[in-house]
Amino acid sequence: MNIALIAHDNKKNDLVQFVTAYQTIFSEHNLFATGTTGSRISEATGLTITRFQSGPLGGDQQIGAMIAKNNMDVIFFFRDPLTAQPHEPDVTALVRLCDVYSIPLATNMGTAELLIRGLAEGFLEWRTIVAQKNSEIEER
Ligand code: PGA
Repeated sequence: MNIALIAHDNKKNDLVQFVTAYQTIFSEHNLFATGTTGSRISEATGLTITRFQSGPLGGDQQIGAMIAKNNMDVIFFFRDPLTAQPHEPDVTALVRLCDVYSIPLATNMGTAELLIRGLAEGFLEWRTIVAQKNSEIEER
């Protein structure tokens, strides 16, 4: 599965701890992240992560573009609800696209725990059917 990892500055430590705790599961998937989040996680865990631009410089939109092509399967986006973000429109757009494409999205640790355990249990296997249909459409 393709998994996106994003955390606002005040939530980066939380996401690093979360990915470290579930590193074994994450290591079985293709990981993508916004710039700073990606470097923090790969430094802490050694996991290979495809890094996009930093969020405020367009990273959220790059991940959004993958969602719009139905190429992103799961999103862990630890938002900071207490700090204004310069790229708030991008944040809103990303969440909106997850709803457009029914992409599982965790915006806090509580939901993230459920999502990662569900992923490990195979509850998201329906995404592989979506991916297969996607590639058939692209081949046409
Ligand atoms: P960053 O971007 O990982 O580059 O800090 C995250 C964000 O603020 O969207």
